[in-house]
Amino acid sequence: MKISNLILLISSMLITGANAAAPMKALVIDGQNNHDWKATTPLLKKALEEGGLFTVEVATSPANGQDMASFKPDFAAYNVIVSNYNGDSWPPQTQAAFVKYVKAGGGFVSVHAANNSFPEWKDYNEMIGVGGWGGRNEKSGSYVRYADGKIIRDSSPGTGGSHGSQHAFLVESRDPHHPITAGLPLKWMHAQDELYDRLRGPGENLSLLATAYADPATKGSGHHEPMLMAIDYGKGRVFHTTLGHGVGAMKCVGFITTLRRGAEWSATGKVTQMVPKDFPTADKVSSRE
Ligand code: ZN
Repeated sequence: MKISNLILLISSMLITGANAAAPMKALVIDGQNNHDWKATTPLLKKALEEGGLFTVEVATSPANGQDMASFKPDFAAYNVIVSNYNGDSWPPQTQAAFVKYVKAGGGFVSVHAANNSFPEWKDYNEMIGVGGWGGRNEKSGSYVRYADGKIIRDSSPGTGGSHGSQHAFLVESRDPHHPITAGLPLKWMHAQDELYDRLRGPGENLSLLATAYADPATKGSGHHEPMLMAIDYGKGRVFHTTLGHGVGAMKCVGFITTLRRGAEWSATGKVTQMVPKDFPTADKVSSRE
């Protein structure tokens, strides 16, 4: 090798850094949501791209009520699909392609109201484990909660999905050995958000990673409710975060960190990221601009 080529090679290695592996590809889905997806998708993109682990593309669906036939993302071209979508049914072809993708080992991340989507789509509800609204009730599956050191499945009748008034709340790790939560503080304060409660669904192959107490004082259910979940679906892995109602909640370092760790785990089964120094503590919210 000529000296000039060697210098070129070394300088290109320096530019790309020690971690020369190509970034993984993530696809964020949006276009319909009863939440401000135009404001939050850029935050999801930023959170995922930070550190160079992922590059992010966005698939925006036709608007609510429009013909959905053209909505056919090429799921298989990505390591992980991140849903910021709550809206009209996808075309049958797109549904089938998505099921095939996750079953074959593709990664999926469901963010906040993505778990309101598709109450009638059996495979989707198996992927997310639990969901809310959209007419969900006891026919959708059990309430999934945490009590006495374990997961509780409550099949009593009632609607699925509610939340009290927004506030900052404590997130408690329930599976500190899972790659997503390993090394994080056991308790951390999440920035003001909606605390989803009374979610229900098939809840199969579901690990409860973290919960929060839905305090009746803020019109909550009075139970420790799932906030972060990991679900096995076929050969695929699903990370489900109920956090992330809006811009403020998504600027929480706890949200950003668990989203990116969940995305990496969904894509690879491992988490290689360090816990950031500004991660929230048990008594202090930490947010980034
Ligand atoms: Zn919300």
